[in-house]
Amino acid sequence: MKRIIIIGGGITGLSAAYRLSELSGERNCPLDVTLIEARDRLGGVIHTVKRDGFLIDSGPDNFITAKPWALTLARRLGLESELLTTNEAHRRALVVRQGKLIPIPEGFLLMAPTRFMPVITTRLFSLRGKLRMAMDMFLPGRKGNDDESLASFVTRRFGREALDRVVQPLISGIYTADPETLSLQATMPRFLDLESKYGSVIKGMRAEAKLHKTKGSGARYGMFVTFRDGLQTLVHALGDRLNHVRFRLNERVVQVAKKAAGSAIPYWSVELKDGTSMEARGLIITGPSRHTARLLTGVDAELAEQLSAVQYASSAVVHLAYRRDQVAHPLDAFGCVVPITERRSIIAASFSSVKYEGRAPEGYVLLRAFMGGGLQQEMMQRDDEGLIVAARRDLDHLLGINAAPRFAMVHRWPDSMAQYAVGHLQRVAVIRKQVGLHKGLQLGGNGFEGVGIPDCVRAGERAAEELFRIL
Ligand SMILES: Cc1cc2nc3c(=O)[nH]c(=O)nc-3n(C[C@H](O)[C@H](O)[C@H](O)COP(=O)(O)OP(=O)(O)OC[C@H]3O[C@@H](n4cnc5c(N)ncnc54)[C@H](O)[C@@H]3O)c2cc1C
Repeated sequence: MKRIIIIGGGITGLSAAYRLSELSGERNCPLDVTLIEARDRLGGVIHTVKRDGFLIDSGPDNFITAKPWALTLARRLGLESELLTTNEAHRRALVVRQGKLIPIPEGFLLMAPTRFMPVITTRLFSLRGKLRMAMDMFLPGRKGNDDESLASFVTRRFGREALDRVVQPLISGIYTADPETLSLQATMPRFLDLESKYGSVIKGMRAEAKLHKTKGSGARYGMFVTFRDGLQTLVHALGDRLNHVRFRLNERVVQVAKKAAGSAIPYWSVELKDGTSMEARGLIITGPSRHTARLLTGVDAELAEQLSAVQYASSAVVHLAYRRDQVAHPLDAFGCVVPITERRSIIAASFSSVKYEGRAPEGYVLLRAFMGGGLQQEMMQRDDEGLIVAARRDLDHLLGINAAPRFAMVHRWPDSMAQYAVGHLQRVAVIRKQVGLHKGLQLGGNGFEGVGIPDCVRAGERAAEELFRIL
């Protein structure tokens, strides 16, 4: 039997293992797969906790279906009936402006408006800012196809006010990144396509919104789903189906070596923290690419250097549970985002129990505050109590809360969000080429072609398919 080792039991590693088991079944080619995970559980940043009747997704809390790979995986696992869409009511987001929450204009999706009236009447932008945004419909498209930063694109098309007051916080809510360095090609290529296809992002967005009947503001909330019992449903289902895979939890890989490098297919030797090692014909390494870089330094210094150049940011999520009557705000949205110019401690907050049913018991609400990220890494120096105090101070002020929460929980996600810098796709191409020199090696994770759960599912599945093809 061909032996394969997968490093990392997050959604990328699990998707790789599942795809391998599908291929092995379909082609009647038995495989001996071991998955090594440093934590005492599977799932990586996907982790669901239950407490006092609350259902808390402590890392990600949903995924987009417009990128189909996670949804398809859920269907293949027979989880379709467990899927939960966002609540129909309140599919919109708020933004902080001069210390107050105001709605992001109806139809304003991530970067640009799809409707005129809500932008004309909003207090969010000045008259000058609104006129500058409208210029997108008349400005020529950019020549050439060099990568540019998200900030450069938005200021070029819509002006600085749009960037500072709404796009920066919306994008930070997804990528926890600095728009001045974030690659547009690697994160939001859709907007580049709209610019080149329609000559104007607004015209393109309006055409698409009509086509898809998109409603709301902020993200395209109608396209997001989770599971009734939390995102860990996906992890549990994968763990259950992979009963022939040897899971080695609480084991950290510290080094990888390539053996018999001269042969057609080399052996991969994986050294664990306890000093023992294992060998395999195929190796899939997942997790943050900076960690992968450390494992591969002895195998390929050039590859390791490229991998370590992909920066990561750490973040924390503070979960707060309140009685509904302790929160004065109507909570008539899925959450709020906070521009960096507002100088607050939180970068965004999600009203979890408004967004998805079953997240809080009757008469209570569950709030999630996001902290840290590329623009506020210094927040991660605070201890848990310090994060709770800072999150509560912001939410008390913004939402009119004047009571202590029933409970507060902090979840930290160190080095977990890849920050795709301008030129990222070119770097990924170099990495792919270099990996191609090492037969039997595949890399996956959120450091390459997408940070979302669907992207990671696809990355894991591709790694499995590539490996299966050559073994
Ligand atoms: C707070 C937060 C909120 C998010 N929200 C969303 C969201 O709502 N929707 C969405 O689509 N995406 C979201 N994301 C992004 C998405 O969840 C992640 O990009 C994705 O889950 C990463 O999966 P992964 O398997 O690549 O990495 P991870 O989940 O990081 O898993 C990697 C695993 O590898 C293990 N590992 C690493 N090194 C070693 C080693 N040397 N030896 C053994 N094991 C090792 C780690 O312990 C870890 O368990 C969010 C991310 C965060 C942090």
